Amino acid sequence: MILLLKRQCQLQQIQALVSRLEFMGFTTAIIEQGSHPAIAILSGLEGDVMTEHFIEFPEVEKVLPFTNKYKLVGRDVKNTKTVINIKGVEIGGKDLAIMAGPCAIESEQQIDSIAEAVKAKGANILRGGAFKPRTSPYDFQGLGESGLRFLQEAAQRHGLLCVSEVMDVNDVACAEKYVDILQIGSRNMHNFALLKAVGRSKRPVLLKRGLCATYHEFLLAAEYIMSEGNPNVIFCERGIRTFETYTRNTLDLAAVPVIQALSHLPIIVDPSHGTGIRHLVAPMATAAIALKADGLMVEVHTDPDKSLSDAKQTISPAMFGELMQTVNAIHAVCGSAQCAVE
Ligand code: PEP
Ligand code: MN
Repeated sequence: MILLLKRQCQLQQIQALVSRLEFMGFTTAIIEQGSHPAIAILSGLEGDVMTEHFIEFPEVEKVLPFTNKYKLVGRDVKNTKTVINIKGVEIGGKDLAIMAGPCAIESEQQIDSIAEAVKAKGANILRGGAFKPRTSPYDFQGLGESGLRFLQEAAQRHGLLCVSEVMDVNDVACAEKYVDILQIGSRNMHNFALLKAVGRSKRPVLLKRGLCATYHEFLLAAEYIMSEGNPNVIFCERGIRTFETYTRNTLDLAAVPVIQALSHLPIIVDPSHGTGIRHLVAPMATAAIALKADGLMVEVHTDPDKSLSDAKQTISPAMFGELMQTVNAIHAVCGSAQCAVE
């Protein structure tokens, strides 16, 4: 339920009402509903709690029901698009968020030269894995904390933000020291302890869709993060498992308009993991931007064939440059998703 408060309610009154509700056993969040202050009742409504119980409070003007389970990520609580501003770079705004870089950080020199190359072609966020979720335990597992340091230094040297994956609750505190955005990988989208841990972080979270996750599960994974207090979640469609074996995954581009219809949060697309094939990265990136995705995540390496992981889907800086030209032209025509999909 959403308690729409009287317009003239002051913050002190709202906080006092929140304390009362929490004392009564409800979990709440202060939200905005147009020009009205409002409180969302997130849980504790089991049993026979009725609308009438809330209308009794003098601060409450109206009680609205939630139309679905997406209490914080959905459009019932917020029908204007969320724009996440990180040090001046906006995600979900008019401009595209372009995250590019290697699958894995391999050395200080490797990440620095890739940072320089992707910055020159128009990326604004450097990606690179330091904790790698590899299918085989014998494959390169990433450089860990020293990799994160190389990533941060390269990003800062070239005027980029940086993003990297955390796989373990115990990695979060360490990663927060180095990255601007914490990434939850596809394999961990259902790791609720990890979702809660990044939900307590001050850093925005890039949430990748689980390999076999429905939209409903994807949205509720974001709900786990937001319900712990972190309002800055970015969805990332990265392909799902289907019967098709030609591509590594089936990139489900319908996720872009679907998630935008159901949520106010930004969504970007990863055509690299979404296809697993180098020559499909640019066409699918183009399609994603035509659909008004808020950005892209692309794997780029100065020597793609020598990448220590995901070589087959990694593109060169030259290919990335061409991709960016097309994507920028498409974006100029199609624009960004506005909010309210009625
Ligand atoms: C990655 O982006 O480094 C990655 C491992 O992707 P995913 O979790 O989508 O497989
Ligand atoms: Mn990869």
